[in-house]
Amino acid sequence: MSGTLTVVGLGPGSEELIVPAVHDAIAQATDIIGYFRYIDRLKNLRNQKLHASDNRQELERAELALKLASEGKRVVVVSSGDPGVFAMASAIFEVLEKKIFYKKTTKVTILPGITAILAASARLGAPIGHDFCVINLSDNLKSWSIVKKRVTVAAKGDFVIAFYNPRSKARENQLERTFSILKKYCEPSRVVVFADAISTKNEKVISTTLGKADTSLVSMKTLVLIGSSLTKEISDTNYIYTPRYAK
Ligand code: SAH
Repeated sequence: MSGTLTVVGLGPGSEELIVPAVHDAIAQATDIIGYFRYIDRLKNLRNQKLHASDNRQELERAELALKLASEGKRVVVVSSGDPGVFAMASAIFEVLEKKIFYKKTTKVTILPGITAILAASARLGAPIGHDFCVINLSDNLKSWSIVKKRVTVAAKGDFVIAFYNPRSKARENQLERTFSILKKYCEPSRVVVFADAISTKNEKVISTTLGKADTSLVSMKTLVLIGSSLTKEISDTNYIYTPRYAK
């Protein structure tokens, strides 16, 4: 019997922001695989077998998922946010691409989730109402020179920029270096928002400017948003938005 492999997104934190199809896939799973913090978020489990692992074990997790699915199990792999955004879906395909056996035996389904930038944007107003880009600041799998190049062209292009993975214990100065690049191309009054743990009980939003931003307030659960030159906070409110036009 051929099994199934479904890669799901658990959204930014709140149970209500998980799409119903993901709840169904989890309910029907025989095996659930993921980073232990995401497995911990699952509620109403029956007797699904849980395979929790530590961070940075994406390829091992992907191997296990494909193996169990090829043996006939109904496997669900959990990611936070959306599984296709800096998460498990690509790791699964990196493994599948190399193994003809999995290509022939295993059908992979990806179920979307609300990614951090969408959750943060909804919380703030409409900051990504015009062209925006998303950059992963982690240099685990890419060199700092690539990060630097992408930050530079995004700033020169006047995009709204969202940074995922702005900080980790292993990478202390990355965000500060990124802000130094931004300061070369953007004015000090540029809107900057630190959207932390959005849609969880620890949610915190700090709205500041490029000139005043204190990067020590950023944690690994923060989405850092840099406005375009037209992004603004509406006076007498907390709404942040970017108009639909560009100049
Ligand atoms: N697949 C996830 C992203 C994983 S990378 C998604 O689609 O959202 C992890 C990074 O996402 C964190 O470092 C942080 O920058 C961002 N992030 C994830 N959840 C968040 C939340 N609830 N609030 C703010 N940022 C979050």
